[in-house]
Amino acid sequence: MSLKIHNTLTGKEEEFVPINPGEVKIYVCGVTVYDVNHVGHGRSLIVFDMIRRYLRYLGYNVTFVRNFTDVDDKIINRAKNECVPFTVIADRYIKSYYEDAENFKIEPADIEPRVTTHIPDIIDFIQKLVDKGYAYEVDGDVYFSVRKFKEYGKLSKRSIDELIAGARVEPGEKKKDPLDFALWKASKAGEPSWDSPWGKGRPGWHTECCAMIFKHLGETIDIHGGGLDLTFPHHENELAQAEALTDRPFAKYWIHNGLVTVNGQKMSKSLGNYITLKEIYEKYHPDVLRLLVLSVHYRSPLDFSWEKLEETKKAYDRLKNAIEEVKILEKLPENPDFEYHLYDQIAKAEQDFYASMSDDFNTPEAFAAIYGLVREMNILKDKAVKEGGISKKALQSYKEAADLIYKTTRDIFGFFDSLKPCVDVEEVKQIEKEKSAIDEELVEILIEVRNKARKEKKFDIADYIRDSLKEKGIILEDTPVGTKWKKA
Ligand SMILES: [Zn+2]
Repeated sequence: MSLKIHNTLTGKEEEFVPINPGEVKIYVCGVTVYDVNHVGHGRSLIVFDMIRRYLRYLGYNVTFVRNFTDVDDKIINRAKNECVPFTVIADRYIKSYYEDAENFKIEPADIEPRVTTHIPDIIDFIQKLVDKGYAYEVDGDVYFSVRKFKEYGKLSKRSIDELIAGARVEPGEKKKDPLDFALWKASKAGEPSWDSPWGKGRPGWHTECCAMIFKHLGETIDIHGGGLDLTFPHHENELAQAEALTDRPFAKYWIHNGLVTVNGQKMSKSLGNYITLKEIYEKYHPDVLRLLVLSVHYRSPLDFSWEKLEETKKAYDRLKNAIEEVKILEKLPENPDFEYHLYDQIAKAEQDFYASMSDDFNTPEAFAAIYGLVREMNILKDKAVKEGGISKKALQSYKEAADLIYKTTRDIFGFFDSLKPCVDVEEVKQIEKEKSAIDEELVEILIEVRNKARKEKKFDIADYIRDSLKEKGIILEDTPVGTKWKKA
């Protein structure tokens, strides 16, 4: 079954054919770490987590890269307000990001580059654009010449004329053309800065992703993703820089997830209508948010409300119960005359599920297939309970239906704690305790061996044991009542 993906670049649903057979290189723009994440961020994380898992399910070897923007105006402003270095803000919200990711079972990316550890790569990238005539310097700023890249606007479907109408030069900008955008910004006093061929400064946002993609994935990748609001200007600018430099396609498929709205308005910090991921985690099982997000096609808007989350919880409980109620059926006496089983429904649900997933990751349709099977399972269960017995075949079919739901939702949607739980402090303590108990026993044995060697006047062996233990931080003391030991 071939996978079809809606490609923002062509505006069409296309068959997915990776550049190298069997391999998928995917880059998703990550968060700017200046504050905690809200449901809007959560949606992008959950959607691309699902896409990555499904590609892997299809057998692709997926390399997934998601960055952290850890230097930016918002981070710098927050640092100024709090009178702390910008790195304190960035580190704080990277930590917060990881807490959310762990809570909501978002698998870590294979590579998670930070801007501040890629400055030489970014400078090198900009220098090449300057050398090729696509970028120019003015007083320590470097700008990209948008008009020189003839295909500018092809991703977001905007014409140069349309863009000119909306373009403006911000105070302090020295660009030659209002359409141009900054690749490198000369830093003001007190701001973080790095040495560059154009003086002290810092990278512009649109360049970091290009430089990190080139470094970690190469000049052409299979999938570039992000939220719909990144299409313009961020992704349009990324594409222009990369393709201007290489004269080859930057990404084969561009995938954009729809935005989260509240009463029809975009959920955002600036509008103040946001719900943080932490607030949701306090009240609901993480799978409930995952189910809410995936109940809507990833390209459609998702209007968030607590009522919807509560409704989704009921749907999630139905799925969970259908799996767990195997136990009820197992307790029923066997009835060989029970004439009902689910094998046809399982085959249909499985087929519909994968057909939907392969049709541009149509998760709502995939869930419809699952819910359909759950309904059939409930019919079987009610009949068996009413009749007070079940055949082996019917029970087995119920188990297989439950297994299908469990495995598909676990592997592809990340439900049912498919990831290892976060490190359990008590468990770690127990392991350490056990470890140290074993060490103690070993030390006692070595002391016995040493004493035996001393009695036999094999002092070289005795000394070797004492010195080796000392190297490991264990000090032996020979006392009149025997050898004692302590940790150094
Ligand atoms: Zn980006």
